[in-house]
Amino acid sequence: MLASTTTIEIEKIAQSKINEVDFTNLPFGKVFSDHIFEMDYRDGVWSSPKIRPFGKINISPAASALHYGQSIFEGMKAYRRPSGEVVMFRPEANFNRMNLSAERMCMPHLNKDLFFEGLKQLIKLDEAWIPVGEESSLYIRPVMFATDEFIGVRPSDTYKFVIFTCPVSGYYAKPVRVRIETVYSRACEGGVGRAKAAGNYAAALFPARRAQKDGYDQLVWTDAREHKFIEESGTMNVMFVIDNVLYTPSLSGSILPGITRDSVLRLARDWGMEVEETNVAVDFVVNALKNGELQEAFGVGTAATIAHIDTIGYAGTDYKISPIESREFSNRVSKFLQDLRMGREADDYHWMHKVQ
Ligand SMILES: *Cc1c(COP(=O)(O)O)cnc(C)c1O
Repeated sequence: MLASTTTIEIEKIAQSKINEVDFTNLPFGKVFSDHIFEMDYRDGVWSSPKIRPFGKINISPAASALHYGQSIFEGMKAYRRPSGEVVMFRPEANFNRMNLSAERMCMPHLNKDLFFEGLKQLIKLDEAWIPVGEESSLYIRPVMFATDEFIGVRPSDTYKFVIFTCPVSGYYAKPVRVRIETVYSRACEGGVGRAKAAGNYAAALFPARRAQKDGYDQLVWTDAREHKFIEESGTMNVMFVIDNVLYTPSLSGSILPGITRDSVLRLARDWGMEVEETNVAVDFVVNALKNGELQEAFGVGTAATIAHIDTIGYAGTDYKISPIESREFSNRVSKFLQDLRMGREADDYHWMHKVQ
């Protein structure tokens, strides 16, 4: 592992592209800031860290990530407060999770000092790209992938790691319609569901498209063995409030351990709410929908923070959930997290990380 003394070479863009961007109309994930942080793993160490203008990466057609999928990523955000200060939400948790994903995929650990030094310098250099406004942020995408030029199946010896960023405005602003999936699976016990591994998302595309054709925005996955228990949704963990108790599937290994999930559970417990992290049976949720006991349903994740679920489709029936305005817990937690990010709420949990 390299020591923190490693200096990051910086090559600045000749002419910023920022003036070409319409910040009032930002499509999610399609606008890229000026620079990218990049480093390579070879001979057992991360080397040549540099920041350069955002642009293409040259890789071999035989690069093993393309064939066998050793590729992992993270998703985090930097926010600009009204005071001008730039903050991030629990970035260490993202760093730790990336290393857990790396372990599961036989990829090397990232060095903490280098990760945060690269991230900090990248954000500082592209600070002007962090949009102003309550719902806006700079989405940060770290990715690591295998680069060995070899078409045999084995863990690669070389990897590339990059971080690039996208200015974004609100995501999933409107409530989502979901369908409980009972044919296809995203992940199974012993699989790679708990890693933020690229292949998980590829495997989800076909089932998700089927649901989209039927008018839903997203799927809610169920366990691969019996399709009887709720797992998670797209890139969000899911939660339900039933009879004033907050239910969410436990971290069985096949769902992604979300940082938003962890934070929301912590808040719920501290606010005196009863929390059940357990097996959440589809039947239990559907019965609650039928009996009118299901008060709230929502997805939790970095992209949307809280995405209210409007309709749940199951076995050919669509169940409508009570209007968003009446949802006490999810609205409160959504507001709390927003106030925390913007500096209006005291950071008693030490979740906010100042970038400058
Ligand atoms: C990223 C992700 C989440 C949410 O995790 P956060 O850390 O809260 O952003 C949930 N499920 C899946 C499958 C994900 O990829």
